[in-house]
Amino acid sequence: MSITLPAPRPELHDLQPYVGGESSVPGIARAIKLASNESALGPSPKAVAAVRDAASLLHRYPDGACHALRTALAGHFGLDAARIVCGAGSDELITLLARAYAGPGDEVLYTEHGFLMYPIAAVAVGARAIAAPEVALTADPDSLLALVGPRTRVVFLANPNNPTGTYLSTDALKHLRRRLPDNVLLVLDLAYAEFVDAADYGPCWELVDAHDNVVVTRTYSKIYGLGGLRLGWAYMPAAIADVLNRLRNPFSVSSAAQAAGIAALGDVQFVERARDHNRVWRAWTTDKLRALGLSVGDSYANFVLVRFPVEPGTDSAAADAFLKQRGIIARRMNSYRLPDALRLSIGLETEMRAAVDVLTDFVQGTPR
Ligand SMILES: *Cc1c(COP(=O)(O)O)cnc(C)c1O
Repeated sequence: MSITLPAPRPELHDLQPYVGGESSVPGIARAIKLASNESALGPSPKAVAAVRDAASLLHRYPDGACHALRTALAGHFGLDAARIVCGAGSDELITLLARAYAGPGDEVLYTEHGFLMYPIAAVAVGARAIAAPEVALTADPDSLLALVGPRTRVVFLANPNNPTGTYLSTDALKHLRRRLPDNVLLVLDLAYAEFVDAADYGPCWELVDAHDNVVVTRTYSKIYGLGGLRLGWAYMPAAIADVLNRLRNPFSVSSAAQAAGIAALGDVQFVERARDHNRVWRAWTTDKLRALGLSVGDSYANFVLVRFPVEPGTDSAAADAFLKQRGIIARRMNSYRLPDALRLSIGLETEMRAAVDVLTDFVQGTPR
């Protein structure tokens, strides 16, 4: 008698799980976690208070349409609330967009060192994820365009990108959009938008308003410090909002997350402080690590990408182990095609001083 087991769809054999940053080191009571680009300053006290207030109503289902949150977002950013869709993190929106617009046999484009959720979301729906070469660790619109073919359905682009920290100007994105066929969806993932200070960078709302094939995603997980609550949102053309509203799980955004999202949006000073903190310590960390002879690119987000010599003992693997021994958790970058690099999130002043001290010992060969 033959035994037949339930079989998942064949494309799922190729699916690699997303592996998040570690949060503890065995034997170390309180490790310094610089592995997941979380906010150095934690959540806004106003968001924390809103979650506490929401606690007594946890028996109630949330508003599945997130009316109050979408109205608050629309007011804050000057957008049309009807074209905002909220999700349990922007990861959920990325996944929904892939499900809605790509399927078996289709192609989804991203960039060489692009965020790993894009190929995961594409492969999960049976599409092929194709990575376009970058130039100097920066997305290249022309190499993306060169890969567009009849089966291309979606282009995912993080701006600035994680883990490279580089960005494309609004003009470069307009060029990309203009040359993209109208049936290809361009998803601009602006998870780190708040950290960028560059005159030629913008939130791209006008690209969404002017075209039928551009979606912008945003998150509460980075500058707002609410990664643990899972809250993201996206601004899109009405036809795409209609599709996502039919496809999404009705209650994926919890009532606590909705309340925190509204409160966090109102705490403008907190966001300003987080931005200022990041600007100062990103620059300080970059300078200190460059002074050690390490290669650190200019980052426009809340992390730095540090590249190590490719020699045993001084390479990124050795640096990661050395940091971990001293209680500092960085992120290896092998899965991002950057095996010589570590990514370090910008934490508190004490945390960045500790990380730089340890890396100084590492580079200068202090006995391990
Ligand atoms: C961290 C990050 C996100 C945010 O994901 P959430 O699901 O909202 O927590 C999205 N895109 C990129 C590129 C990121 O680095």
